[in-house]
Amino acid sequence: MMSKFQKLMAERGVLVADGATGTTLQQAGLQPGAAPERWNLENPDAIRALHEGYVDMGADIILTNTFGGSPARLARKGLDVRAHEINLAAAQLAREIAGDAVLVFGDIGPTGQMLEPLGTLTYEDAVAGFATQAQALAEGGVDAILIETMSDLNEAKAAVEGVRQVTELPVLVTMSFDTKGRTMMGVKPEKAAKTLWGLGVDVIGANCGRTLSETLEAVLKMREAVPDALLMAKPNAGLPHAEDGELVYDVTPEIMAEYAQRFVNEAGVKIFGGCCGSTAEHIGAIVKALKDV
Ligand SMILES: [Zn+2]
Repeated sequence: MMSKFQKLMAERGVLVADGATGTTLQQAGLQPGAAPERWNLENPDAIRALHEGYVDMGADIILTNTFGGSPARLARKGLDVRAHEINLAAAQLAREIAGDAVLVFGDIGPTGQMLEPLGTLTYEDAVAGFATQAQALAEGGVDAILIETMSDLNEAKAAVEGVRQVTELPVLVTMSFDTKGRTMMGVKPEKAAKTLWGLGVDVIGANCGRTLSETLEAVLKMREAVPDALLMAKPNAGLPHAEDGELVYDVTPEIMAEYAQRFVNEAGVKIFGGCCGSTAEHIGAIVKALKDV
């Protein structure tokens, strides 16, 4: 049976995902250093407004506010005991705004800890933590699970394994190639593509990263390494610079829209959205541009 995700993809050809969560919530008053996931419980209206901003602009997909929602990462703020509650609330909030017409991807980011042997987190503990998170997201009604901003292939594998222990929802995995064309852990796009696609996931790709051209280059290499892969890209709106004491991203909605077309036309990307620094205006411009592809 086709999943809701596959159905919409077949119907529309290219899907537009939402923009930034973290930087947008900071604009809404979230203090730097505070856990954005806390707002799923304590400031749900801000999360609703975040999602509404993207849905109103025509996004086909919104992500739950759970990037740091793995128990290992929540533990930094003493919130690990509330992992289930936080992820469940986030999924329910996104579902409420998405309704039936828009897809909700349950968002899973890295633990922020290094796995053994480089760090102290065991592979088994990582799998169990991701399973806890995915379980709550699935329970809250998401349509797929997106594992994103990964830089360690082993951790990405642990996340896929954890998700699969608890749900049969489609799984997407994207990595951040932000260090001279590789991930922070030194993984090349070609290697990432072959390994991740080899796990039998539904979609692979790149997100966050540095500039749009660097992320496009990474995705082109993934395409070359696995010609038949379904690809997703969710790049930053360029790089941040300080302007009157505030961080401003240098890519305008117009430039982002131009690049959206390049990602689709040159690399065959099927899902495109924005990461850090991307606003509702960026997503609106992307939606407009991709309707003519
Ligand atoms: Zn980002």
